Amino acid sequence: MTTPETAPISDFIRDIITDDLKTGKHTRIVTRFPPEPNGYLHIGHGKAVCLDFGSALEFNGECHLRMDDTNPSKESMEYVESIKTDIRWLGFDWGEHFYYSADYFERMYEAARTLIRNGKAYVCELSQEQWKEYRGIPTQPGKGSPFRSRPAEESLDFFARMRAGEFGDGTLCVRAKIDMASPNLHLRDPVIYRIMRVPHYRTGDAWCIYPTYDFAHPLEDAFEGITHSLCTLEFEVHRPLYDWFIAELGFEKKPRQIEFARLNVTYTVLSKRKLLELVQGGLVKGWDDPRMPTLCGLRRRGFTPESIRNFCHRIGITKFDGYTDIALLEFCLRDELNKTAPRAMAVLDPVKVVIENYPAGQVEWMEAVNNPEDPAAGTRKVPFSREVFVEREDFMEDAPKKFFRLAPGREVRLRYGYLVTCTGCVKDASGKVTEIRCTYDPATQGGNTPDGRKVKGTIHWVAASHAGRVELRLYDRLFKVEHPEAVPEGVDYKTNLNPESLKTIEAVVEPSVLQAAAGTRFQFERKGYVIADAIDSAPGKPVFNQIVPLRDSWTKT
Ligand code: ATP
Ligand code: MG
Repeated sequence: MTTPETAPISDFIRDIITDDLKTGKHTRIVTRFPPEPNGYLHIGHGKAVCLDFGSALEFNGECHLRMDDTNPSKESMEYVESIKTDIRWLGFDWGEHFYYSADYFERMYEAARTLIRNGKAYVCELSQEQWKEYRGIPTQPGKGSPFRSRPAEESLDFFARMRAGEFGDGTLCVRAKIDMASPNLHLRDPVIYRIMRVPHYRTGDAWCIYPTYDFAHPLEDAFEGITHSLCTLEFEVHRPLYDWFIAELGFEKKPRQIEFARLNVTYTVLSKRKLLELVQGGLVKGWDDPRMPTLCGLRRRGFTPESIRNFCHRIGITKFDGYTDIALLEFCLRDELNKTAPRAMAVLDPVKVVIENYPAGQVEWMEAVNNPEDPAAGTRKVPFSREVFVEREDFMEDAPKKFFRLAPGREVRLRYGYLVTCTGCVKDASGKVTEIRCTYDPATQGGNTPDGRKVKGTIHWVAASHAGRVELRLYDRLFKVEHPEAVPEGVDYKTNLNPESLKTIEAVVEPSVLQAAAGTRFQFERKGYVIADAIDSAPGKPVFNQIVPLRDSWTKT
């Protein structure tokens, strides 16, 4: 069987690329991933990264990483660095092809001058309000700006003075002269340069005019020789504009923009603006909070790059917008960790079991299998003593017939330990069980039954004599509802935040767990996958994040 990651990928974009190579339109594929450094990357960007870098890799081409930094007000080097880290972590490499849009400002300025000189752009003095009126609505042609026919020389002069800082922010702008009657409003003389006195994290105060995204993007693609410029569907209506700039500026090698559906995931939001709001509002503990859908959040939570690539592979590339169930991402992770994560025993809600006929003070080191899915993972020794902890939910005083765990008179297997039979329990004044009493069968060491008798229940446990205590952070969905952004007018999507998305407990664990280095993953048997937190954990005093429960228990309400 081929795993998703090794199965050949096929989708409409890869079909186009295959065709372009076959017909000789291109001999080498060049794609780009163009994040704006105004936030940390999220899983939606992960999808784009897997497509941009993945397709380049498959076709022996190259993928450029370009900081799309033409809008300086919210950009910073912190974001640039985080973007590089996250893409590398996902397993992709841009080689020498790392670029900043800002490094093209001079060339873009020249390109705008070319358009003006060719009568294809002009400096406009209409205010934004006036412009709204001139531009009109899609069903009726707009009205040309009175500055539309101003001589090129005059526009060039104004443009130079805009650059020199003679005019106030938001006053003059440069517009492409396209078609005021087009039903596509993006073609009604769109702005290509505006005045904005905002220092740029890279160019400082060198510029007070900045190109718009619509103008900058096709130019960057053309400058870099991009062949396939892949972006999300909302840019489909901008494509005629993209093509217009490429044609009017006479680029010989024409990049082609192709749109695909963005990723939306249930129970979360995927918008940098909203994620920033959660961070700034202190509603999460930072961009890398393990509840965040950011790549750094998922990494800290314990997701692997493989599971994310696998997820992106499974969801595929289409033209249809829709929601992807977050359970699919978790499935991809479980699928992988089941094969790779060593097992350990931990009790999350401990209650003590006293084994009445087991000698006090005796400790036996039982052999436990590290990973039944991976024989190479070997075995380890787990201590067994007269008192052990088990999960409170694994005991019932008054149990129904089908309860195959601890109940008075019933026998269960303590995994890798012994078979024990429950003889009763001790309760406090409120009726809460404080201790479970059992006897064990010495002939069942290791949990084996030499006489072949069947025992239905096997439960996990931790020897009280050697129990370590660790902090375990249990995570639930960040939002309570499947589509947190679907709120009525006037209602804030943040009201859908799940107040119980983080619960911190103390778990008791077998000794092998205590020495875990930060980043170590385990499957806590019968419970779920955990990772020693990258930041708060240290060997001897590990702090664990629950990555996912063992089964999809989310759907249980
Ligand atoms: P956001 O909406 O989160 O602010 P953005 O589109 O503004 O995202 P950019 O930094 O401009 O963020 O995105 C870089 C690239 O990632 C773009 O090509 C964009 O199309 C793609 N991208 C962003 N969000 C998603 C998503 N949810 N699914 C797929 N691709 C995405
Ligand atoms: Mg964007």
